Amino acid sequence: AHVTFKWLWKTKCTPKIKVFGWFLLSDRLNTRNMLKRRHYNIGTNLDCLLCELHIEETVEHLFFHCTFSKECWCL
Ligand SMILES: [Zn+2]
Repeated sequence: AHVTFKWLWKTKCTPKIKVFGWFLLSDRLNTRNMLKRRHYNIGTNLDCLLCELHIEETVEHLFFHCTFSKECWCL
């Protein structure tokens, strides 16, 4: 396993946070991009629902580029 996963499981976070981190690092969070890749019927609009930038909702967007998320992180 990658060293990041070992670090994640050794942290003192709650198991819920660890599992979320594992989903994040494994690209298994149910973003619109992921649902489309799994052939869920979500229509053709893959835009992020949190901001109005008309950018595809991916893990990278949600955690690092989304204007709404950035505002939340800064609170
Ligand atoms: Zn966004």
